[in-house]
Amino acid sequence: MNQPLRVCICTPELAPLAKTGGLADAAGGLTRALAAAGCDVRVALPAYRSIDRDALHAVSIGSAGVRLGPSWVEVELYEGRLPGTSIPVYLVSHEPSFNRPGLYGEHGADYPDNLRRFSVYGRGVLALLRRTAWHPDVVHCHDWQTALLPVWLRVEPAALPSETATVFTIHNLAYQGVFDADDLPLTGLGRDVFTPRGIEFWGRVNVLKGGLLFADLLTTVSRQYAAEIQTPEFGCGLDGVLRDRRDDLVAIQNGVDYTVWDPASDALIPARFTPGDLSGKAACKRHLQETHGIAIDPAVPLFGLVARLAEQKGVDLLGATADAIIGLDAQLVLLGSGDPRYETLFRTLHARYPARVAVALGFDEALAHRIVAGADAYLMPSRYEPSGLNQLYSLRYGTVPVARRTGGLADSIVDATPDALARDAATGFVFDAYTPDAFLGAVKRAVFAFLDAAAWRRLQQAGMRADFSWSTAAPHYLDAYRRAVARRAAAR
Ligand code: ADP
Repeated sequence: MNQPLRVCICTPELAPLAKTGGLADAAGGLTRALAAAGCDVRVALPAYRSIDRDALHAVSIGSAGVRLGPSWVEVELYEGRLPGTSIPVYLVSHEPSFNRPGLYGEHGADYPDNLRRFSVYGRGVLALLRRTAWHPDVVHCHDWQTALLPVWLRVEPAALPSETATVFTIHNLAYQGVFDADDLPLTGLGRDVFTPRGIEFWGRVNVLKGGLLFADLLTTVSRQYAAEIQTPEFGCGLDGVLRDRRDDLVAIQNGVDYTVWDPASDALIPARFTPGDLSGKAACKRHLQETHGIAIDPAVPLFGLVARLAEQKGVDLLGATADAIIGLDAQLVLLGSGDPRYETLFRTLHARYPARVAVALGFDEALAHRIVAGADAYLMPSRYEPSGLNQLYSLRYGTVPVARRTGGLADSIVDATPDALARDAATGFVFDAYTPDAFLGAVKRAVFAFLDAAAWRRLQQAGMRADFSWSTAAPHYLDAYRRAVARRAAAR
């Protein structure tokens, strides 16, 4: 193919414009890497309140009426540029849907009208792509909020030209967008699609399932997760659908945007450092201890954790072992927001050990960087982890991950076995069983290793040398796009 592939990225999050978690970083990193690889890539997002249209130089390109079941709503369409790039960004604006404080909800509860909101967005994207002179070869959708697009493109002949291929990426199978059957008309889809072989799921509408069934090609964000989601244990009820499509499911490990996450250039941390000179890391640790009111001591192992506080992240394992971890003469710096249960747990730990456990509740990008830079080790005891980005960031910052062997964690961390240590290949401490004992065992191995400064430095340096650039991942996406285009052509 001589002319560049034209790809429209449809995503509910994109860093730095709209972020609740790793999807934003992944979508942002992928978009920039595709542009750098010569792809004609554009992005379409909902016009959330948090997006500063002036910073994008966004201008209106008109309005469109979109059908939502029996009613029509009017959306305003905008075009701008991703800050610092020439990548076009489209925004679908609908004030009642997107001029709200949250992306998906507030105070830990989803907005009840999310099906309507993301149907408005998806229909708006189609209206926009019908209007522009630019016609994508591939519409690349991310997570359930965009999963109706592949369905509409296949069952509604007028949606877009029939040669338009679709790729759907699963960033987290647990979030499926499940709604009452009564809401089906909002999707504009008929009863013929509301079957067990369609978007019906135990009598309800499952939006994600539509993406999984109708996209030309599926991808997910690590090899291990691609295998896990085909099993009942990790398949969240959709493992059968995924097994049926296993030949169309491609695993591509998420990359890291090293222009944002690199200790040699990170402006958000108090001192910069490199594998060859870690003195700046010591300064970052000291700064973290100082600013969070915990004992300033370079010899104490400091564990960091930054997470959406959801069951997935294994925070209950931390709760069950925190006393024992503190008993190892360690410190904890914890940042997160989400489930009130875990926020209470964090507060309780801080109240119990004010000089040893520092806690920040909320979403704080700069503090996330300072924790990743200043901690000695990073805790990721996740129940499951599709890709995980924090362990990749930690590796780059010489912050040794302690993680469960699941999903992308299993693929990206080399456990410190005697053999791996002897080869200088070890980068972290990995445990298997989802139990407090197994987790505590890995933490103890880390604390023990930390006592040998030279060996610890070798672990840090091996992690810092590991390369998870998007420039490695982007060609795999380009291959997937070409496959999807070929498949579409064959299907017509
Ligand atoms: P997930 O996508 O499941 O949330 P990842 O590890 O893939 O998990 O990505 C998490 C991303 O979100 C990282 O960039 C992390 O730093 C960021 N993050 C999560 N919670 C917070 C928070 N409370 N404050 C700042 N950043 C956060």
